[in-house]
Amino acid sequence: MREPEEALRPPGRRLTRQRRIIYEIVRSRRDHPNAAEIHREAVKQIPTISLGTVYRNLKLLAEQGLIREITHLGEGSRFDGYPELHAHVICRACGKVEDLELDVESTLDQLVAEKTGYRNLVHSLTFYGLCPECFQLRQWGTKAEEV
Ligand SMILES: [Zn+2]
Ligand SMILES: [Zn+2]
Repeated sequence: MREPEEALRPPGRRLTRQRRIIYEIVRSRRDHPNAAEIHREAVKQIPTISLGTVYRNLKLLAEQGLIREITHLGEGSRFDGYPELHAHVICRACGKVEDLELDVESTLDQLVAEKTGYRNLVHSLTFYGLCPECFQLRQWGTKAEEV
C-alpha cells in the first residue's frame, strides 16, 4: 500500500517510511537531539535501522528544508524539527540547545538587504554562554536547586 505522503510527493522527493518516522521523532522533541539520540528512538520502531541510515535521512530532511541542522562548535550536529526562523542559545558547559524568540529576527534580513543589496536572505543566529544551572555550578560549586 502506498502511503498518502508518497503519493502526493513528486518523484524523487518521496518521503520513505523510514524518513517519515525519523522526521516525526525530530518533530516531537524540542531539545534539538543529535543523530545518536534520534537513532535510539528510531530503533524502537525500526529495530534494524543503523545510525548511518538515520544520519543520511536527517541530512536529506535538512536539505529538503523540513528540519534544520544546527552545527555545534566541536560537536556533532543537532537537529531541529522546526525549520521556521528562530535563534538558539547554546550552553558551552553542558551543550544544551534552547530556542530563543527575538523581536529583531524579522527585521535583520531586511537590514542586511539594505546594507549589502543581497536578496532572499536567510540567517541563523546562535548565542553561546553558560546556562543558569551551569553558571550557578561554576560560581558556587552547587546547583541552584541545592542552595
Ligand atoms: Zn549548561
Ligand atoms: Zn530550535
